[in-house]
Amino acid sequence: MPAFHLLGTGAADCGGDVLQRLQACGLSIDPVDGLLVTHAHMDHVSGFPLFMEKIWLDGRERPIPVCGIEPALAQARRTWDAFTPVHEGWEGLPPIDWREVEHERGARMWTSAPWTVTAAPVDHGDTPNVGLRFEHADADHVLAYSCDTAPTSSVVRLAQDADVLVHEANGGETDNHSTAAGAAEVAAEADVDRLLLVHLPPGDKSKRLREARSIFPHTDLGEELGTYSFAA
Ligand SMILES: [Zn+2]
Ligand SMILES: [Zn+2]
Repeated sequence: MPAFHLLGTGAADCGGDVLQRLQACGLSIDPVDGLLVTHAHMDHVSGFPLFMEKIWLDGRERPIPVCGIEPALAQARRTWDAFTPVHEGWEGLPPIDWREVEHERGARMWTSAPWTVTAAPVDHGDTPNVGLRFEHADADHVLAYSCDTAPTSSVVRLAQDADVLVHEANGGETDNHSTAAGAAEVAAEADVDRLLLVHLPPGDKSKRLREARSIFPHTDLGEELGTYSFAA
């Protein structure tokens, strides 16, 4: 059965040292097929230069696909360029295969059997951002990831009947994030099997978890470096 790992902000992106987290889960770097970047905020893209350095040091030669909407890719590119000329002399650096996806509902973010990833715009204020739906063709498993967003019907659609919804719960009532209760309402409306809350603010999380469970009982806190199966 396929599994997934929570490496920082959610189910994609490269805030901080995402490959160190991958290795901490007991996985190696070489099988990484590509990188999906959702939006331009630091906690989602600042680790890109380090990601490149690490796959190079790991001996990768084949190109690395980096997929995302234009503003997210532009930010990744700027972070990489900021380290010029440091990486200019690096022999055998794998080429970056920038793959821009449309900022629209149903955009194909990734298609490489058995995984298909579709994106849809979410509500993150002035910052263009996308949520993601990961579908596994063989096993008929679906994972949805809200990314950073206020509760939105876009995520309800993305997550419809998913096995797991990974939803952020970073916010208060009025900003461009969701409360735990808001995430739970999205999970209930999408009729998912399980909700994992991620991106919570620091401090005691038990009250937020209780609030979410009062609306959507099968809710858990997504553990950093946690490995999850799709089974309910
Ligand atoms: Zn953000
Ligand atoms: Zn974030």
